[in-house]
Order: sequence, then structure tokens, then C-alpha cells
Amino acid sequence: MTARLLDGKATAAAIREELAAQVAERVRRGLPPPGLAAILVGDNPASQLYVRNKHKACQQVGMRSWIHHLPADITAARLLGLIEQLNADPHVHGILVQLPLPPHLDESAVQEAVDPRKDVDAFHPENAGLLTLGRPRFYPCTPHGVVQLLRRHGYETAGKEIVVIGRSNIVGKPLALMLLQKRTVPNPAAGDATVTIVHTRSQDLARLCQRAQIVVAAAGVPAMITPEMVAPGAVVVDVGINAVAGRIVGDVHPAVAEKAAAVSPVPGGVGPMTIAMLLLNTLRAAQLFQDSSKPS
Ligand code: NAD
Repeated sequence: MTARLLDGKATAAAIREELAAQVAERVRRGLPPPGLAAILVGDNPASQLYVRNKHKACQQVGMRSWIHHLPADITAARLLGLIEQLNADPHVHGILVQLPLPPHLDESAVQEAVDPRKDVDAFHPENAGLLTLGRPRFYPCTPHGVVQLLRRHGYETAGKEIVVIGRSNIVGKPLALMLLQKRTVPNPAAGDATVTIVHTRSQDLARLCQRAQIVVAAAGVPAMITPEMVAPGAVVVDVGINAVAGRIVGDVHPAVAEKAAAVSPVPGGVGPMTIAMLLLNTLRAAQLFQDSSKPS
């Protein structure tokens, strides 16, 4: 392999250290530690693992964390009742509902029930709207993880041609929005890039990708990005998480590492960065809560 590794594991560890120092400073000033409540419905093994990892990460940086594990057949009314209770709890600054939910539960309704000031996943329509306007309250975790992974390895996005593969509400669409926006004080992670979004109906994927200086693959198709699709010296970020024959692989074919300047690994790339950005949002939620409760 000739490409440089975009090491998400080490970068996320460095971010966690910075966050731990900020949390310790808060506590030293007599403020409560940020708290994250995670809601897990049912027994999906991948979801259980994600929630456990998030819980562990909170503890590593000195944040409080609670897991509410509910049965798969929970009624919508009971789930919404728990969210209401967490919305009102001053110790809980961030609320995370682990997706996917069982089919009888309406994901949109559940996401909209979370107080937008505690919506650390940034899935609530109010937060999606603020992001679209370039006034983000929270950045969505995976897109922000991609941006920080690039920045912390010294790859500037301003003026670059970037292709984002995927247009989901969780990754592709918000990431493309962040990358194309003008960088301002309230929008520091904006990319100032020229962005092309590629999806299932796009024609000639290879031609579109070849012109990019940065390619971000978030399609969920194992090894779909092959060396022929990538310009020599491009930077390639692999968001994909695909289980193939008991192994986790990304959307980028391993041979791309022979042609690209840099590639993020799977696992150990965007995944750990996503969790680090969730912690960052939880700290931000706690700061916003504290600011809003100051006497004016
Ligand atoms: P999704 O299925 O909701 O969206 C996939 C998108 O890719 C769609 O917009 C679709 O149009 C596009 N697409 C699919 N096949 C394509 C093809 N052959 N050519 C062009 N476009 C194609 O998935 P998602 O939630 O956006 O997640 C994408 C991938 O990222 C998945 O593998 C998921 O597991 C992974 N993921 C990783 C993290 C992380 O933290 N690393 C977080 C979220 C999602």
C-alpha cells in the first residue's frame, strides 16, 4: 500500500483527550458533567455494540451516560413517554435514539419528539433546517467526522472538487451541504468546496469520481470504488460499513490504496470519528443548556 492512512482511531483518541480536558475544566468550575441518554429498542446485535461503544466513550471523557434498553415490542406511547421524561431531565444534555427502530415504530415521529436542544445526532427537522441555512446548532456526527478526519490530516477542502457518493439524510446529503457551504464563524466546519453528489440514478460514476480531488464513499456497497474510478493522488474517505463473510469492509476496494494519496481504513476510519463527534455534540448541548439557564 502506498497511500497515507487517514487514521480515525488515533484522531478520535486525540479528540477524546481534548474533550476530557474540557469536561474536567467544567467540573472544576462546579458545573455538572455533560450527560448522554441512549435509547436502544430491541436486540439488534450491531445496535447493541454501537450503544455500548458510545457509552464507553462517554465514560472515557468523564461524561455521564445512561442506556435505556427497551423491549422490541414497546409501544410508541411508552417510547415517547420516556423521551418526554428525558427531555425534562436537567442532568440529560443529549438524547440518542439508536436506529433502526422496529418497523411498528415511526422513526420520524420518534426523532421529532426529542427536544432539538438535546438532539445530539442532529436528525431533528429543526436542526436539519439550521444546518441547511448555515447556522448549525449541532453538526451531524458522521459528516462532521469526515470533515474533521480530513482537516486533522492536513487536507483542506476549500476550492477542491469533491464527490460524495450517497444522498441519505444521515450521511451523504448533510455532508455535501457542509462541504459546499461558506466557512463562517457560526459555521466553522463548512468546506467551501465544489461538490458533486452521486447516487443510484447517476450516470457514469467512474467519470464523475475521476475528476474529484477528494472522494467520499457512503453508499453501503462493498468495494464499489475501484482504482479506475479514482484520480492519481486523490484523497479517499470510506464511510461504508458492510458485513461480508463475517468481516467488516468498506465501500472502497483495497487496491485504491495503490493509486490514491490517502485512504481511510474500515474499520478504524470514520467509525471512531463519528463517536468522537457525538461526544463533542453532547458537550456543546451541555454548554448551550448552561448558557440558556443563565439569568439575563
Ligand atoms: P443509505 O442506504 O441510506 O444510503 C446509501 C446512498 O448511497 C443512497 O443515497 C444511494 O442512492 C447511494 N448508492 C447506493 N448504491 C449506489 C451505487 N451503486 N452507486 C451510486 N450511489 C449508490 O445508507 P447510509 O445510512 O447513508 O450509509 C451509507 C454507508 O455508510 C453504509 O455502509 C453505512 O453502514 C455506513 N455508515 C457508516 C457510519 C460510520 O460511522 N462510519 C455511519 C453511518 C453510516
